[in-house]
Amino acid sequence: MQVKQHLLPSPAPGTRRELVSLHYGQAGQGEKVYIQASLHADELPGMLTAWHLRRQFDALEAAGRLRGEIVLVPMANPIGLSQWWLQSHLGRFEGLSGENFNRHYPEYIEAAARAAEPRLGQDERQNVAVLRAALRTEVQAAPADTELKALRKTLMLLACDADVVLDLHCDAQAMMHLYTETPCWSQCEPLAAFLGAGVTLLATDSGDNPFDEACSQSWWKWKRHFGDRFPIPQATLSVTVELRGQQDVHHDLASQDAQAIVDFLTWRGVIAPDGAVPAVPAPVGDARPLAGSMPIASPVAGVLTFLREVGETVKAGDVIAHVIDPITASVTELKSPVDGLLFARDTLRLVTTGARIAKVAGREATRTGKLLGAR
Ligand SMILES: [Zn+2]
Repeated sequence: MQVKQHLLPSPAPGTRRELVSLHYGQAGQGEKVYIQASLHADELPGMLTAWHLRRQFDALEAAGRLRGEIVLVPMANPIGLSQWWLQSHLGRFEGLSGENFNRHYPEYIEAAARAAEPRLGQDERQNVAVLRAALRTEVQAAPADTELKALRKTLMLLACDADVVLDLHCDAQAMMHLYTETPCWSQCEPLAAFLGAGVTLLATDSGDNPFDEACSQSWWKWKRHFGDRFPIPQATLSVTVELRGQQDVHHDLASQDAQAIVDFLTWRGVIAPDGAVPAVPAPVGDARPLAGSMPIASPVAGVLTFLREVGETVKAGDVIAHVIDPITASVTELKSPVDGLLFARDTLRLVTTGARIAKVAGREATRTGKLLGAR
């Protein structure tokens, strides 16, 4: 394993941060897998899972069982890790710009397509190699004049030519669930089964370019761009893995999740099996449209108490929570707008007017516009 340090530009005199990536296996041999943890720096289950993955990858490499290249970034956000305010860690938004660390990844699809076109042909594998090289050149050449932009660029450079990208996040309180783009679903389905995901939320271009979509969208957009002229596969499977809730930082869960990822990579052929190839388990959940994932917002402020637990199946009109005004003693019922799976809810119990307190995954795509909230 090779450790690489990537210096970010200094945000202030005397201060400089670095990103660290761990490189296993052989570049150019077999598939490339990229895994990063805690891009939202206050989402810690990914960092613990990465620690378990690192132990597994160390052993697998020593045993000569890696058939491809694996890049592991065990902590993807040194900026967010350093943001504290009065004993509270703030890792989701950059304090300087207010931007969400997992939004606004630039896209280079048109520029890379223009550069690659003279070298494209009817060989799909060759097209993948040519487009990846063109994309790398564009990402490398992109300006990055702030620390945040340099972080995004560094992460994209490490990930943009991978066959598999796993971005390890978590929700506030949640069951295991995934986000991926619809063209990735057929490749993602076995991963969802290995991880025991309760639901996978599908969208095509949800808006604001989160990291996983920035890595996968090139392929279906290039396919659309070139039409029938050149064969272009969905060459990157990119998935945001929501490792349950922020408090779910336990060795038993993290080692189980790391094992599920290793089993998936073994099933995919990146890791040589020790005996039989692991069979894809029976799925726990299914795939549903991100446009059918319904946030439940509170129309009033007050003390929030939940009546339903994460993981419960609910009906439209079921009361999910009460918001209590301690002055007037009024109780406001917050109801599910759809039949679906209550897969995530907030940790705060003092709710502000308009705040979103839970999400129910329905089966019908009913929302339009930008599908991911700032939170
Ligand atoms: Zn996150």
